[in-house]
Amino acid sequence: MSTISDPGPFARELLHKLDLKPPIDVFFICDNFNIIIKNDKLRDFEAVFILHKGAKKIVLNENINYETRKNFTIAHEIGHYILPWHKQTMYICDSIDIQSFQSKKSEEVEANRFAAELLIPTEYLLDDIKNKEINIALIKQLAEKYKVSLTSIGIRIVENTYNPIALVLSENGKIKWSIKSKSFLKKILPNGTYLREQSFAFDFFNGNCIPAGPQMVYSIGWLENGSFYEYIKEESLQMPNLNMVLTLLTFENQEEEFNDNEFDDW
Ligand SMILES: [Zn+2]
Repeated sequence: MSTISDPGPFARELLHKLDLKPPIDVFFICDNFNIIIKNDKLRDFEAVFILHKGAKKIVLNENINYETRKNFTIAHEIGHYILPWHKQTMYICDSIDIQSFQSKKSEEVEANRFAAELLIPTEYLLDDIKNKEINIALIKQLAEKYKVSLTSIGIRIVENTYNPIALVLSENGKIKWSIKSKSFLKKILPNGTYLREQSFAFDFFNGNCIPAGPQMVYSIGWLENGSFYEYIKEESLQMPNLNMVLTLLTFENQEEEFNDNEFDDW
């Protein structure tokens, strides 16, 4: 992967210039730059940004159902327009690059980071999570406030908290991706691993309901070096429409985890 430049300052400058506060109206931003938004058939692509003889257009895949996803995708395309080193006159953006946040293409990663900072500006987010217990209820509440998906806000919280927390998205019984805060020092099971029966997320894919609120589970359910002697706090949220489960992992006893020397590649 080529080097990623930080698009954050460009998103913040844009918000400042247009005097915008969350929830950010991406349509207003497009109006401001005379960027036309169109919905069209795009097969597997999420969206296209086109700059042609000074005219600017974003074409969105007409199959995008969720408003939050639409907002993020438009913010991503605005990133291609605003970031000065994004010089192509056309960006054809794959759903997988925008949705997975694990794209290998540097310009796609940058446009995603631009979108994340534009829709969930760090200064507001830090205020919203200060001295708060991070749980699914807070993730839901902030997703509502910023008009973004649960995963978008969840990722931003994990990136900006001092608490040892991790977020895991599971799909079809397997871990799709995970992200952890700097102080979460344990290794989560790798992407693509089948969920283990010691987790509540496993239950959802086996036809059972997940109890609301945090639950203590054996760490072997989620961690690479987990065991039946150690517990981890799991709060899982089933998303039946997407056949996915979003899981928040935390430790009851944070001190113990801080003293662990198991640093990995953060
Ligand atoms: Zn793109």
